[in-house]
Amino acid sequence: DPQLNSNYTFENYIEGDCNRLARSAGYAVAAKPGGTSFNPLMVYGGVGLGKTHLAQAIGNEIKRTMPDKLVIYVSCEKFCQQFVDSLKNNTINDFVNFYQAMDVIIMDDVHNFAGKEKTQDIFFHIFNHLHQSGKQVILTSDKAPKDLAGLEERLLSRFKWGLSADLQIPDLETRIAILRKKMYADGIELPQEVVEYVAHNIDNNVRELEGAMVSLLAQSTLNKKDIDLSLAKQMLKNFIKNTTKEISMEYIQKLVCEYFEVPVDMVKSPTRKREIVQARQISMYLSKSHTKSSLKTIGAFFGGRDHSTVIYACQTVEDLIDTDKKFKGYVHDIQKKLKMS
Ligand code: ADP
Ligand code: MG
Repeated sequence: DPQLNSNYTFENYIEGDCNRLARSAGYAVAAKPGGTSFNPLMVYGGVGLGKTHLAQAIGNEIKRTMPDKLVIYVSCEKFCQQFVDSLKNNTINDFVNFYQAMDVIIMDDVHNFAGKEKTQDIFFHIFNHLHQSGKQVILTSDKAPKDLAGLEERLLSRFKWGLSADLQIPDLETRIAILRKKMYADGIELPQEVVEYVAHNIDNNVRELEGAMVSLLAQSTLNKKDIDLSLAKQMLKNFIKNTTKEISMEYIQKLVCEYFEVPVDMVKSPTRKREIVQARQISMYLSKSHTKSSLKTIGAFFGGRDHSTVIYACQTVEDLIDTDKKFKGYVHDIQKKLKMS
């Protein structure tokens, strides 16, 4: 029993900028365990970003395509515990032989080696044995090898031999794709605006993102009720801590600039380029309607302009909303995004 969870596959692992390198390195390792320069492969990143999933996907893929290979997945914690037990029971040789017989070892959360010198020594020997025999080592950690504290230098230096690839927080689109995958797996479809709301608001880790979706899906099934945006907001109060978060001018500036694809700092500059002026005026207009800032503060924020500039900007935007359909659409889009925050 390699202790692999069969749900953790590459197929279920959505690709994004956040994980591209780690994912493709993992894929390469799965195709040729021990036969790439990615040995060890170290995947690192914060809590809930998909380290365990990716590491197990590699193991599952190897078991699927090369059933004869001996693959072991073990958390660092469990390994440490087993070591202590084997000391107590006088079975240290069995312990070492077991691991040295593997073709692939996946060790999860190696930061947990910190302070455990004896276990590190044993793992150092197992690592060397496997590596010299062309066997594959896959590691995960919450930090890059260079930032791992409490690990012996010689072990760390081994960890740096192969490839270290990090996992980042997925961007909005990847978060939406992850949620879609989850809905699809559960056979339940939620409205697009609900999916977007969840993806917009839960932007710190994938585990929480999934948790929110699981909770919505469960309630939708239990209550036999269609979940619309306001119901979703109601249900997710516990997940989304800052629902009453105040909208800041900074945030408005960021949203507007992203929307029009103009550099964020340009709206504060003196430039009179049409698209920048438009982004600046809309930012001022939205700041007036969505924040408590005074005209003077708004003018000062957007590049040290005076309050009459803000009044003029708001007037211009209001006129355009009345006369220009396309423009009105832009402003509505941005307002919608603002309200999602
Ligand atoms: P970590 O080990 O880094 O704390 P996990 O691997 O346990 O994180 O991932 C947390 C949850 O998020 C798991 O249910 C996992 O399936 C899911 N997950 C993480 N990244 C992705 C991704 N790119 N695509 C699909 N699901 C993901
Ligand atoms: Mg994990």
